[in-house]
Amino acid sequence: MPKKILTHVCCGPCATYFTKRLREKNFEIVGYYFNPNIYPREEYYQRLLTARTFFQNEQLMLVEGKYDPATHAKALKGETLFGKRCRECYRLRLQQTALKAVELGIFSFTTTLLISPYQNQIALREIGRRLARKYHLLFYEEDFVKGYKESRKMAREQGMYLQKYCGCGYSQEESAKIRSCSGNL
Ligand code: SF4
Repeated sequence: MPKKILTHVCCGPCATYFTKRLREKNFEIVGYYFNPNIYPREEYYQRLLTARTFFQNEQLMLVEGKYDPATHAKALKGETLFGKRCRECYRLRLQQTALKAVELGIFSFTTTLLISPYQNQIALREIGRRLARKYHLLFYEEDFVKGYKESRKMAREQGMYLQKYCGCGYSQEESAKIRSCSGNL
């Protein structure tokens, strides 16, 4: 019998391979879109729409969290540096996912952030494990990064919107700087 898992969904493209893999592992997936980190609002809704369409096409449930950028700003505790601020950002999103799992009576939780080679996988796993202990849940983890390239291929094949930066305003600026520098080479 499939085991339910609440899957925090950072975006549609990352959910492609990730959900395929969880299904292979006999999980019954419930998605949870909780990403108050995304800036600006239009970008948030663009990514939400992409994730929503993917989940509808796959006939999977997607629970939609609240979009409150002030929650994210507060959670960063003044950290602006890449790395330090990302830990706080992970903590906020995973904590909310663990709480939602408790509310829905789902024992396991995970996050599609585990697929990205651009995220700090060690920090994500540490935070997920700690929250699992705190709330008496199971944090499901495996090496999803090996499926990253396939997830991009699947997303392109489905004509999905592919974002150009991680999510927050800082990452938007950093990514724009990198693109303009490489354009000057
Ligand atoms: S770069 Fe990404 S993970 Fe880091 S704080 Fe910004 S949105 Fe969060």
